[in-house]
Amino acid sequence: MTGGAPIPPGLHVPGPTPLHPEVAAAMAQPLISYRGPEARALLGRIGEGFCDYLGTERPPVLLTASGTGAMEATLANLLSPGDPVLGIGGGQFAERFLGLAEAFGLETRSLGTPWGSAADPERLRAALRTRPEPRAVLLTHSETSTGVLHPLPDLIRVVREESDALVLVDAVSSLGAMPVAVGSCDAVFTASQKAWGLPPGMAMAWTSERAAAAERSARLPRFYWSFSRYRDALARGSMPFTPAVPVLFAMEAGLRLMLREGRDAVFRRHAEAAAAARGRLQAMGLRLVADEENATSTVTAAWLPREVAWPELARTLRERHGVVLAGGLGQLQGKILRLGHLGWTTPGDVHRAADALETCLRGA
Ligand SMILES: *Cc1c(COP(=O)(O)O)cnc(C)c1O
Repeated sequence: MTGGAPIPPGLHVPGPTPLHPEVAAAMAQPLISYRGPEARALLGRIGEGFCDYLGTERPPVLLTASGTGAMEATLANLLSPGDPVLGIGGGQFAERFLGLAEAFGLETRSLGTPWGSAADPERLRAALRTRPEPRAVLLTHSETSTGVLHPLPDLIRVVREESDALVLVDAVSSLGAMPVAVGSCDAVFTASQKAWGLPPGMAMAWTSERAAAAERSARLPRFYWSFSRYRDALARGSMPFTPAVPVLFAMEAGLRLMLREGRDAVFRRHAEAAAAARGRLQAMGLRLVADEENATSTVTAAWLPREVAWPELARTLRERHGVVLAGGLGQLQGKILRLGHLGWTTPGDVHRAADALETCLRGA
């Protein structure tokens, strides 16, 4: 590229998100060894930041990975070959969870939730009463491919009432931005580039006491993803393998900002951005994929009008307005658009993206 650098496009996708200037600045700090006293102090502050923000007693395991790495680690640490697992379906990420389980030789079953719908707790109950009893239930909280928020507390309650299955929760696009009872899950994971407003590169996973027992008897192979290696290293103030150090710097700065704002205020800001997104998209005559009562606060998906071709709309948005939206994934490819509103996002950001979209659709 000659001449000036191109203007970075306005990212309105469900991760990665634009960085807060303080977070971006933190990444430029001089690198440190991940085994020395600076790392011990940094990891300590990060762990405390997560505990304060989420109200948990234990810090997460920090994996150098995107969210899918934490998904894989969760299965590899807690399950054994041939274990039956039950997933919910209903979107790309729930299907990925099941696909990963299948790749690991687990016996998978899906509730087969239709894409765009919320998983039905009573259908889950019926499935749990069908043999074989699952060793684990794989839940997705915020289904980023459809904008649906599954009713996590109800689903977990049904699992507890009906079985001894482990509850493994993909909260990649909800934790941080929306209420999640971390302590009610046997394992829950998220990733830096989603609601935490950080660069991609780190995933965070929490496990319960029950999961710790399951971990000891689980026989799937694990090495790089071994939770116990990370916990043992953390007890010494270190990491077992080289982490993405700049992302850890960003994480410390981001947690400080989120704690300063306050968890309830962060939740409210996301809820307001989501309400603005739903209002604007509907005002343009677009039909939303998720019903209002099942809508997540971090991304809104809408059906494209039949006459609109997604590749052209995406190109016009990017080239004329510097706005990047996400398209559909899997079976929804070319059928929907997705507007992300997570991280440091505000309702104002949503309105700017919506203004651009409105202009493009009028010209279409
Ligand atoms: C983003 C996301 C993931 C993981 O995707 P990565 O690209 O591996 O970070 C998993 N589940 C959900 C719900 C997501 O939104």
